[in-house]
Amino acid sequence: MNDSYNRQIQYLRVSVTDRCNFRCVYCMPTQGVKHLSHNEILSYEEFLRIIKILSKHGVNKIRLTGGEPLVRKGIVQFIRDITALQSITDLSMTTNGSLLAAMAEQLKAAGLTRVNISLDTINPKRFRQITRRGELAQTLQGIEAALAVGLTPVKLNIVLTNMITEQDIAYFVDFVHHKPVSIRFIEYMPIGESQTTPGPSIEEIKTMINGFGRGILTPTLDIFGNGPAKYYDLPQAKGTFGFITPISDHFCGVCNRIRLTADGKFKPCLLSNQEIDVKTALRNGASDDEITKLFYHTIAKKPQSHTLTNTDEPTEFFRRMSQIGG
Ligand code: SAM
Ligand code: SF4
Repeated sequence: MNDSYNRQIQYLRVSVTDRCNFRCVYCMPTQGVKHLSHNEILSYEEFLRIIKILSKHGVNKIRLTGGEPLVRKGIVQFIRDITALQSITDLSMTTNGSLLAAMAEQLKAAGLTRVNISLDTINPKRFRQITRRGELAQTLQGIEAALAVGLTPVKLNIVLTNMITEQDIAYFVDFVHHKPVSIRFIEYMPIGESQTTPGPSIEEIKTMINGFGRGILTPTLDIFGNGPAKYYDLPQAKGTFGFITPISDHFCGVCNRIRLTADGKFKPCLLSNQEIDVKTALRNGASDDEITKLFYHTIAKKPQSHTLTNTDEPTEFFRRMSQIGG
């Protein structure tokens, strides 16, 4: 299914919960956000019905996100149920990794293909400052478990805040040298009540990486699919680096995704307040055709590009990142 700008929409990101065991400074306010009640949140059966319908209209790639997807009970069975749909060929998850060590094996067995794990620093004190609750050791164990069970390619997401240091970059260079992971630096997006200061620019990070004597970054292809990251190799490294630039060089022209929030709204664009209510239709007995129409309507509403960098008319966002899923 193509949108008005000829982008083929194949990818649905599903936020299975707005809850999270972390409170990352760039994602949530200190006190957290008011949680959705049990009745407000879509049941797994409701999510599955939507996924089934969309899979008949070109969606073949699903990413589970949150809040933190691993805090929602029943996630393993949900993954099994999605896996049973033959038309879904790629089922991935974005997680903070804190619960992954204990769950990686079951997730893999249920059919999860791969994981992206957030890891903003390798300093335990700064990790705690950024996440406000997290333990670095648990996330590192989660990364090792993902590699061990083959939830690959493992991608690590690093949001560029002012808390990242040269010590972190040195560690990441070493990590990429020894491990088959992709380390992706993401420009901080100032949405919701996030409380952080943007960190070094992508160019500054590249200069730091090139300065560690492990060779110079050279452009390469994505190790899986064609997402928004631009990838680079380092000589003799087992992994790669990726750079995601929603602010300095947006990739809206190749955006192939829509989002489904935990409270049952389709979102045509991460960085827009537009939402299409699918939950009400679902609970009022809508037919598959009616749900399909809402999906088509969402695609028709996809803007050509976001307006986050438009300083004349700054957007006031209704949702925090944890309520959309990134
Ligand atoms: N809890 C999971 C996690 O942290 O990976 C999944 C949900 S989280 C909202 C998804 C992704 O969004 C994470 O990689 C996180 O780092 C990123 N993210 C959150 N707030 C952001 C912001 N303001 N700018 C850029 N990325 C952000
Ligand atoms: Fe939770 Fe992920 Fe947001 Fe951090 S980025 S608060 S782990 S949802």
